[in-house]
Amino acid sequence: MQPTSPLQTIEKQTKPSNGIRTVLNFIGGKWVDSLGTEFLPVMNPSLGQKIALVPVSTAQDVDNAVRSARAAFKGWSATPIKERAQIFYRFKTLMEKNAEPLAALVHEENGKTMSEATAEIDKAIEVTEFACSMPQLTSGEILEVSKGVECRIDRHPLGVVASITPFNFPNMVPNWTIPNALVLGNTMLLKPSQLVPLSSIRIAELLKEAGLPDGVFNIVHGTQAVVEAICDHPGIEAVSFVGSTKVAKIVYARATSRHKRALCLGGAKNHLIVLPDANEEMAATNIAASMSGCAGQRCMAASAMVAVGPVDHIIQKLCDEARKIVPGKNLGAVITKEAKERIERYITEAEQQGAKVLVDGRRATVDGKNDGYYVGPTVIDFVKPEMKIAQEEVFGPVLSIMRVKTIDEAMTIENNNPYGNAASVFTQSGGAARQVMERASAGMIGVNIGVPVPREPFSFGGWNDSKFGACDITGKSSIEFFTKLKKTTIKWNPESKVNWMS
Ligand code: NAD
Repeated sequence: MQPTSPLQTIEKQTKPSNGIRTVLNFIGGKWVDSLGTEFLPVMNPSLGQKIALVPVSTAQDVDNAVRSARAAFKGWSATPIKERAQIFYRFKTLMEKNAEPLAALVHEENGKTMSEATAEIDKAIEVTEFACSMPQLTSGEILEVSKGVECRIDRHPLGVVASITPFNFPNMVPNWTIPNALVLGNTMLLKPSQLVPLSSIRIAELLKEAGLPDGVFNIVHGTQAVVEAICDHPGIEAVSFVGSTKVAKIVYARATSRHKRALCLGGAKNHLIVLPDANEEMAATNIAASMSGCAGQRCMAASAMVAVGPVDHIIQKLCDEARKIVPGKNLGAVITKEAKERIERYITEAEQQGAKVLVDGRRATVDGKNDGYYVGPTVIDFVKPEMKIAQEEVFGPVLSIMRVKTIDEAMTIENNNPYGNAASVFTQSGGAARQVMERASAGMIGVNIGVPVPREPFSFGGWNDSKFGACDITGKSSIEFFTKLKKTTIKWNPESKVNWMS
């Protein structure tokens, strides 16, 4: 029987207290109480209602999880990679079978629409599918380097790795790291965002159902203290982080100062450069979808549009498209009341500084969801590059338009921004597109694409203040992050020549 509420899917893995469910940690294949004494509310952002409590775990909880992951590492890393991949084939099938309740859980705790939540699960399935190809991608190299002498390279897992994740993709971002890191032979401690701890519970359950041995995957819920304990713990070899730039910098500095590998993805300010020859329909619909999808809470969302020359016809069409996006219908909630207030403050401040609000999403309400945290789609014209709204990450369904005369000016604005996740160009000219592709200071570029997320096997990762550390977090590049190389030189033939290489 299908559960009537997404929360029913996690009943067995949570604990009731005073009519509300409390989330448990997952250590050594068991659901266990946190040793912390503080609990935070988990809210349903669409309704503004408390739906669960999440524990603020302690350094001791982290230590317990690391011990469990270290104990599991010996057996798991010795399991042939083809067998490890088989578990993730089963996990992928289970994700497919459970796609609807998994999406419902994302919708419940994050506030995005059901269709956006379904797309999130689809992407999580795609990264899992990629992880299943690891046996093919990681087969070693061997070469006869001199007569009778061979060199070979083998990839080895690192050990226990930690993955710290943000609120905006409660299922997909954890799955950016779980399948790849685990198929490659590592064991893991996941620290999900305390705002959206529920999806990870189902991920753990499905991994167990797929046959993952106990201890290979562990979850410790909490906030700063858990993250600090992860950075400091000598039993953890590598830390991946996805979240804001402020915290990415802190985690990168702290983890690397403890001699760990670290890969920390931060925030974004993505520029879309729109030229007069752009296809009006394609540009307007793509840009409207990019700025408003997931209520603008995507690190790949269009945030700043640089209008080069006479593009009023495109702006007009873009505003028409934005007006079709309706909170509570095809636009979800933002994550918290504070986020709603912060986003609205950015809009008001820009207006006070002389920008013109063409489509205004402030004071959005949804019938029957009066306490939900909604901001409507917002388009602001005549924003100046020096304004706060042009420089900082807003993380809401807000597009700032800056007007310039040349591609050079557009590139100066894009290049001067400290972030560097994505940049896109809308044009029908191959030459103009090429200029932006070459000159944009960002890791992921779109040509007539509003959200240029690379699909597997291409990897995900930005530049500048959008990423700290080498490698990308997904795709082939993740293999470099989650493994180390062993180089072996072999000589069996006693007659092989002894020379300067010997
Ligand atoms: P966040 O930085 O507030 O939180 C991320 C994680 O860090 C959470 O697990 C949180 O508990 C923990 N954390 C928060 N404050 C901490 C502190 N002071 N010390 C240690 N740990 C701390 O980010 P968020 O608000 O959850 O997510 C939104 C941000 O994530 C946006 O900036 C967005 O651009 C970014 N993001 C980036 C990518 C990317 O691929 N570059 C992807 C998704 C989200």
